[in-house]
Amino acid sequence: MEAFDYDLFVIGAGSGGVRACRIAASLGARVAVAEERYFGGTCVNVGCVPKKLFSYAAHYFDDFEDSKGFGWEFDNLRFDWSVLKANKDSEINRLNGIYKSMLDSNQVDIFEARARISGPNEIQVDGKTLSAKHILVAVGGWPWIPEFPGSELTVSSNDVFAMDQLPAEIAVMGGGYIAVEFASIFSRLGCKTSLIYRGDQLLRGFDKDIRSFITTEIGTHVDLYLEEDIQEIVKQNNKLEVSFKSGSKLSCEMVLAATGRTPLTDDLGLETVAVQLADNGAIKVDANFQTAQPSIYAVGDVIDRIALTPVALAEGQIVARALFSNDQKAMDYQNIATAVFCHPNIGTVGLAEHEALEAGLEIDVYESVFRPLKHTLSGRDEKSMIKMIVDRQSDRVVGLHIVAADAGEIVQGLSVAINCGATKADFDRTIGIHPTLAEELVTMRTKRVDV
Ligand code: NDP
Repeated sequence: MEAFDYDLFVIGAGSGGVRACRIAASLGARVAVAEERYFGGTCVNVGCVPKKLFSYAAHYFDDFEDSKGFGWEFDNLRFDWSVLKANKDSEINRLNGIYKSMLDSNQVDIFEARARISGPNEIQVDGKTLSAKHILVAVGGWPWIPEFPGSELTVSSNDVFAMDQLPAEIAVMGGGYIAVEFASIFSRLGCKTSLIYRGDQLLRGFDKDIRSFITTEIGTHVDLYLEEDIQEIVKQNNKLEVSFKSGSKLSCEMVLAATGRTPLTDDLGLETVAVQLADNGAIKVDANFQTAQPSIYAVGDVIDRIALTPVALAEGQIVARALFSNDQKAMDYQNIATAVFCHPNIGTVGLAEHEALEAGLEIDVYESVFRPLKHTLSGRDEKSMIKMIVDRQSDRVVGLHIVAADAGEIVQGLSVAINCGATKADFDRTIGIHPTLAEELVTMRTKRVDV
């Protein structure tokens, strides 16, 4: 039998890679990981975690404002970005340490260097040539910015986490997750915020009614430039002059391009093996995350299926268990709940209306738009929305979409019920908790008549 240095060599210590290392090592495999940048990957360093910390900071602004209707009075409210940034940095450093010590305590060999594949079972790292029975590529993705005159003047979502100062005016380009989240965050932290999107409604791919509702809600605190494409950006004095193809213009201090992310497959040595790439650079894998080179696997953002941390974690775990135990559980991409941390939050699980119709289902749609109890006193002009999509034949709830404070928390719980096949009748016979926003979910009576 051929003797390899390792049973599994993982490239990339982000969510998917670290989970695979940990599970494989706990199953007795000899594991190594190479990480050239930071432990914890995008999620911990320039993604979910610091973004959520910024989102909490942004929500305080709403809370302070809302408290006045409840009798609170205060003067001299001010926000200090440097405090938030320093505290965020120290928390991320702490998490980096936890990720590293998790690998150490599982006896995973760590190479803090770039690794390149040089053969089906061979890796070059830190001046060494190492062999592994299996290689797992979990290198993630990187912000992608389209090229146009002045595009080099934009910053990416990676950069905003390292900013020393908050700009007074920012324009965010894009209408996806990152764009709407940062637009909400910056507007609450005191920046005059604009959002430039080439479509007519934000968040392509989401349910149409949710898109329309959130576009209106975000338009209450952000200047929306919809159906606009940037032609060029020119720097004049300390300002950026943004010209649109339509002929309109916008002046601001900073432009954040949140225009998508691309798999990080360059310079990995993949040309030395049979691994195949899709047109966008994503590694092609089968249902078991195996590439066209049987010894090499890939998970997470680099395979560009669903770019979410919990998905990468599940994929990494499935690969490790399949390789080092008899667990051949397949990944189930149905009913993966997700949240967008804009204001108000969006939580969604299951099918959007268009997806249910495309799947040939006959559906009933229940919708409710209402003013949350809190805002009767706060005076905030913010509404909430719930949309439930029910398969008429089976009565199963196949889609649930909520726009409301903490919608992600509500939808996470309900995604369990939906994964268990909960029917509309199950929701209806459930007694609500009063007064909560979530009780609306068990009292939805009004069917939309146009479906
Ligand atoms: P998205 O793919 O969600 O959005 C990219 C946006 O950029 C779209 O609105 C797209 O427009 C626009 N765009 C793309 N190309 C151009 C162009 N040439 N000119 C103008 N606009 C353009 O990517 P994000 O970067 O926002 O997020 C990446 C992924 O990260 C998400 O898909 C998600 O999986 C994950 N993520 C998850 C979060 C969460 O769970 N809360 C938070 C942040 C990220 P169009 O719609 O017209 O194509």
